[in-house]
Amino acid sequence: MIRKEYLLTPGPTPIPSEVSLVQAEPIIHHRTPAYTELFVRLVEDLKKVLLTENEVLTFAASGTGAMEGAVANCFSPGDRVLVAAGGKFGLRFAEIAKAYGMEVELYEYPWDEAADPEVIARYLREKRDIKGVFLTHSETSTGVVNDVRAVGEVVSETPAILVVDSISGAGALELRTDAWKVDVLVTGSQKALMTPPGLAAAAVSPKAWEYVEKAESPSYYFSFKKALKKYRSDSPETPFTPAVSLVKAMSAAVRLLLEEGLEEAWERHRVLALCTRAAVQALGLELFPKVLERAYAVTAVKAPQGIKGGDIVRHMNRMHGVIIAGGQDRLKGKIFRIGHVGYYHFFDMVVAVTALELTLRSLGYPAELGSGVAAMERLYWELTEGKEAPG
Ligand SMILES: *Cc1c(COP(=O)(O)O)cnc(C)c1O
Repeated sequence: MIRKEYLLTPGPTPIPSEVSLVQAEPIIHHRTPAYTELFVRLVEDLKKVLLTENEVLTFAASGTGAMEGAVANCFSPGDRVLVAAGGKFGLRFAEIAKAYGMEVELYEYPWDEAADPEVIARYLREKRDIKGVFLTHSETSTGVVNDVRAVGEVVSETPAILVVDSISGAGALELRTDAWKVDVLVTGSQKALMTPPGLAAAAVSPKAWEYVEKAESPSYYFSFKKALKKYRSDSPETPFTPAVSLVKAMSAAVRLLLEEGLEEAWERHRVLALCTRAAVQALGLELFPKVLERAYAVTAVKAPQGIKGGDIVRHMNRMHGVIIAGGQDRLKGKIFRIGHVGYYHFFDMVVAVTALELTLRSLGYPAELGSGVAAMERLYWELTEGKEAPG
């Protein structure tokens, strides 16, 4: 049998062939007009994707590089910051902030729920010296998606700035950086942006720049000031050698996204999530998040009684070449996750669900073959063609 792989994890994600191909082109030098044109276009296109007029800075790093950049550039050791965390990635912000010597107030909400904007408001009322609030838009480890707009309302009324990790959200889920009053929005290449891993970006508001001016934490490679200065020079560039091929790749990918249309892409992801959800529920499985509103990036599912999430992941990979993700940290073994951010279509989810049905059977769970696929197909019909079909 040939082995064909299907990558269905929430990062890295598959990339369109247009994006693969540009990486095979000869390397261009980064201090040439050709590169400048490419780079400026990417930055302008990223602004369109993030719906922001703020400065967008790019870094050769995975998403965490931009997260670290946000911490290091906006605050000083000893600053009090509030981290809202409901999963592995939320906690990462707390770890980075502690590594930079900040006083971290940790608001840890249940991993299957969303952050409560009211609680954030209370922290800000009670501790007036909180300088920054950190929030994860799409918490990839749990599938929960936070209400960034509501938190933005709360934080914008205070002197604090709002830092949002939308690494698995931007490009897939509704995200309005400026309208939602996000001061620093960080994202990365390898999720909805349909690009290989290794390129990160940060959109920085004027309010956040005031923080950058005063911040005393050490930073060099991820220095926002250095990045902005170079971008604003006569021939916009980055302070250090950029990941030229990734810049090309992301530029091609973002073009595809803008051609599809942002709202269309958001709707596509919503349909993928609703169909995948319908399938696993028809199989008698339980979704992990209690809050399903907005949760359209990852379908996180509780492993059935007596079966470890990791066994499902391993079996699907080994037997069917279908790569999904298990649970992380405290969710290890308890859940599995099907990713659908980025270059995905309904039929990719049919592959995932078919492999899941076969796998559950193999592992002794009484899945009725085809029942998940039937449920998702019916819903897909209703959500798409059924809407327009005569009679
Ligand atoms: C993938 C991801 C990250 C960043 O991880 P990297 O491995 O550094 O790219 C951070 N936050 C969220 C929510 C993510 O999904």
